[in-house]
This record gives sequence, C-alpha cells and structure tokens, in this order.
Amino acid sequence: MADRPTVLLIEDDRTIANFIRVTLKARDYVCLEAADGRQGLRLLTQEAPDVVLLDLGLPDIDGTEVLRKIRSFSQVPVIVVTARDQESEMARTLDSGADDYLSKPFSMVELLARIRVALRHSAQVAGRRDDPVYEVGRLRIEFDRRRVVLDGAEVHLTPNEYKILALMARNAGKVLTHRLLAKELWGVVLDKDANSLRVFMTGIRHKIEAEPTHPRYIRTEVGVGYRLVDE
Ligand code: CA
Repeated sequence: MADRPTVLLIEDDRTIANFIRVTLKARDYVCLEAADGRQGLRLLTQEAPDVVLLDLGLPDIDGTEVLRKIRSFSQVPVIVVTARDQESEMARTLDSGADDYLSKPFSMVELLARIRVALRHSAQVAGRRDDPVYEVGRLRIEFDRRRVVLDGAEVHLTPNEYKILALMARNAGKVLTHRLLAKELWGVVLDKDANSLRVFMTGIRHKIEAEPTHPRYIRTEVGVGYRLVDE
C-alpha cells in the first residue's frame, strides 16, 4: 500500500461523489472517480487502487455486474454503496465478493470507518498476518488453544459456537451474511436460516455479552447478517 491510500469511487451521482471526494481528500486519501461502470473498471486496471467504493445503481452496467467483473481479476476490497433499500440485494453483493456495504444516506464517519477496516484487512491478507489471538474490549479469542476468554475467565462454547465466533473474529469488522454463516454451520442454506441463526447468536451472546439485548461485540446487520466489532 502506498503512503497515501488510493480510493476508487464508482458513483454517478455528482453530489454524493463531490461530498465523498472532499471528505477523502481532507483525510489525505487519493480519490479517483468514475461516473460509470466501464470507466471504473478501466481505472481499476490502470491505477490499482487500495479500495473501491461501488455504487450499485450505475447508468451503464449494473453495479452487481461490475462487482462480478472486478472479482474475476482482482481481490481489491470493495465496499458497495447503495440507495436501494433492499437487504436481500446487499446480502447478495456480499456473497458475490463485496467486502462491506453502506446504505445511503450514510455518515462520513461511517464511510471512513469502513474504509479503514477494508484497508486493514487487505494489508493483513497481503502480509499473510495470522495473529494467534484476537482481542477486543474484554473479549479474547485464542485460536491455537481454541479458547475464548471474557474478563479473564474462560467461556465455555459449543464446538459450533466456537467455530462461528472464530470465523467472525478472523473477519472482525466485516459483516458476514446469513447465507455464509448458515453454510458454515449447517453445510446447507435453509429457508429458515435467518431465524435459526438468530437463535444460535442469542446463545453466543448470552455467553459473551454483558447485556445480550444490547450487544457490545456481535452486532446485528438487520436482514443481512452479523458483524463482530473490531474496536
Ligand atoms: Ca447511482
């Protein structure tokens, strides 16, 4: 990664693009802009940005198709930005290889936080960093010992609970979709997976959250999936 990370913004709405550009430049990011999918793909191959912000509703190629094309040759982190209030679509883009999503309207604080997470993840992947421990707040996960510790005391999880929590910790900060989690847990995706997952997550939360109904660690992304916080 260069000293100043480069963000490629693929967005046809000029007002939003201007706003994002000003914010990113103020934070010392380099911002490349494309107003449609073709131009976006061209800039991606020419400039090799560190992260892509991709609007789903583009004038030429549908954003999901742009994402598919990106994934055919690049593992660059992609944050999907969408005005469509369609959770199933967001989940679908995450399953198609997007790293994260933001629904309009979103705050610039939120956008910058998601960009930082995406950059951190790509740096980890590039450096093949494989921490033996994941720690956030009072929660500690020791991968080599398959141990979860909360406030210094070991938490007893079932093998499936550990498996899911470890997967979330390896992807901390990223939202994992219902589909991905269900596949990991049960090997298949069932119609009722969102409900079964809710029950499953409630079980984990009761073991690691001080207030399971106001979770500190495992956040619900309504209609999409779950995210383990990374700070
Ligand atoms: Ca648009």
